[in-house]
Amino acid sequence: MEHKTSDLGGLTVRALRTRRRRLASGLSDVEALLRGTLVSQGRRCGKENCRCASGDLHGPYTYLSVPRPGGRPRLVYVPTDLVETVAGQVAAAVRVEAALVEITAINAELLARRAPG
Ligand SMILES: [Zn+2]
Repeated sequence: MEHKTSDLGGLTVRALRTRRRRLASGLSDVEALLRGTLVSQGRRCGKENCRCASGDLHGPYTYLSVPRPGGRPRLVYVPTDLVETVAGQVAAAVRVEAALVEITAINAELLARRAPG
């Protein structure tokens, strides 16, 4: 059963620790995590006489849009044969980040009950 973070107050200390252990043991290999969003974009090659100059773009190609603090996202080209791998890494990062949010919320709840650790 899924518990939202706001439901943590209804769980016992024991249940909180069990949930925390399950979340921690489900964390993927953190070395493979990749934060970003896969986007599909057409491109102009820059040649004057090319069909793309009149709007018939090349592609679409897949890019990973990587957020940069205080700047525009960086677009990294993803070769077709790597799209599946990268999509898996991005999905893993989303899951791990959500798990970390929940683990830290559980720890805050445990602290509030004077039962840290
Ligand atoms: Zn072109």
